[in-house]
Amino acid sequence: FLLVQPLASAIGAITSVNQALGALGRIQEVLDLPLEDEGDLPGTSTAVADAAAIAFRDVRFRYPDHVVKAREAAAAEARSVLADVHLDSAEPPTETDREVLRGVSFIVPRGSRVALVGPSGAGKSTILSLVERFYDPTDGAILIDGIDARELPRDELRARFGYVEQDAPTLAGTIADNLRLASPAASDADCERVLRAVNLGDVLERNPLGVDAPVGEDGVMLSGGERQRLAIARALLAAPPVLLLDESTSSLDGVNEQRMREAIDAVATDRTLLVIAHRLSTVVDSDLIVVLQDGRVVGQGTHSELVASTPLYRDLAKHQLLV
Ligand code: ATP
Repeated sequence: FLLVQPLASAIGAITSVNQALGALGRIQEVLDLPLEDEGDLPGTSTAVADAAAIAFRDVRFRYPDHVVKAREAAAAEARSVLADVHLDSAEPPTETDREVLRGVSFIVPRGSRVALVGPSGAGKSTILSLVERFYDPTDGAILIDGIDARELPRDELRARFGYVEQDAPTLAGTIADNLRLASPAASDADCERVLRAVNLGDVLERNPLGVDAPVGEDGVMLSGGERQRLAIARALLAAPPVLLLDESTSSLDGVNEQRMREAIDAVATDRTLLVIAHRLSTVVDSDLIVVLQDGRVVGQGTHSELVASTPLYRDLAKHQLLV
């Protein structure tokens, strides 16, 4: 009998997970509950977070002083260079309030596609650096597969994620060299498969050397969007369960934009995807969109829910001619 009770509550927990996953709006309420309340809520907040690839629970963060100082020094140097050539430069950042995440809660359910959107400086990149534990939260917690990220050794944690940075650089060498960085044993056929998955098959066709073609001036010239798709292909080859993608800010023409969207769709199949989206056209089909402003979540939901509920999102959508 003693065993039956935990089993029953475990089944209850699974049911509540499914219900919660089906109604992402309510998850926000669950995550907002103070941690001490967990004991009174069997199978709710912990179960929801356990079922998620990533869960942010009331995360607050300020960059460490030495990082802020180094950044300010670099910015001051840039300003003096700009002043020398008589170009306008931004005002120095204010010293007073350095908290860049102010109580951020959201979850990335396993196998889902979640997008972070919001104006410059809202905290999107900071969120990805916290997921990868370049820093730890000043307050609150980040759970990875239900485990507090602070309990996971950094290399073990990072092995779960493939990270595709913004405007990813290519390395000197061949296309295959670029792809095999994270998976040296991959065959040529594997390389070709991932290239086609991200819509770079034509790069093979336009060069007789195929994956052995050098990248750059002596070989295959790649546009900004193509370089990022190459980086996505590299991450695909390593087959991480979760892909973190900081979408390229370089402007893309219609064809490249469509190809990028298809590449992201290919990546999102069978995988968890957390993407910083600079173009709303790549996020409209996301399972969940988290809207950030000034270190806070100001809305989360699907595209149509947010158009109805969140003025900032509606403005972003209007600007990008989607509504
Ligand atoms: P963008 O779309 O421009 O990349 P973002 O939403 O990704 O913006 P973050 O880069 O996360 O925003 O920045 C959030 C805040 O943290 C900003 O005020 C920024 O100035 C500050 N910040 C970012 N990186 C650092 C750093 N290394 N040291 C100190 N402050 C930082």
